[in-house]
Amino acid sequence: MTIVLLSGGIDSSTCLYLMREDSLIRALTFEYHGIARSEVAAARRIAKKAGVAEHRVVRLPNLKEASDIRGASFPGLPGTYIPMRNAIFYSFAAAYAEEARAQSIVGGHNRDDTKTFADAGRGFFDAFDRALWAGSAIMRREKTEILLPLANKTKAQVVREASKLGVPLELTWSCHRTGRSHCWKCDGCLARVWAFSAAGVADPLRQAK
Ligand SMILES: [Zn+2]
Repeated sequence: MTIVLLSGGIDSSTCLYLMREDSLIRALTFEYHGIARSEVAAARRIAKKAGVAEHRVVRLPNLKEASDIRGASFPGLPGTYIPMRNAIFYSFAAAYAEEARAQSIVGGHNRDDTKTFADAGRGFFDAFDRALWAGSAIMRREKTEILLPLANKTKAQVVREASKLGVPLELTWSCHRTGRSHCWKCDGCLARVWAFSAAGVADPLRQAK
């Protein structure tokens, strides 16, 4: 059994399709304060299309992005930064892994993410793996670990991989705003446009525009 953290974006959808080749999968999505509703809806569609054993959506209405937290500042970090984001997300994933006796917890962090977020890199996850084994006899026995199959790839390389794997890219959602279609102006949209262009892959969402 494998637990994949699924956001509805390209990276986590690619992880889902990578792991689908040889394991039974459950997907886990977090609906935190201010997340684009369209992104959660995309996660639901992708999980269904991939035929996961279960898709669990955990609501965390008190967890906010930096830009939504009044009276605090986070110098040098983007507005989408969430304090202790991955310690929180992967703790929920670990609880789910104990319940499901999963051997792997899979996250879609790519090489570009680690430049901005200290909690998206292998250093953090190696320490977190040790914490899981120290804190859970079940996970120690199952040898549960966190896998980051895209950690050495840029976003453009992930797009290329997704295209090869047949990930339904037309169902993914990269925009930070909620709407019926992408705004093509926010950071999420601009990163998507750049990645598809660098990968030499046509974006089905841009074609449909
Ligand atoms: Zn956008």
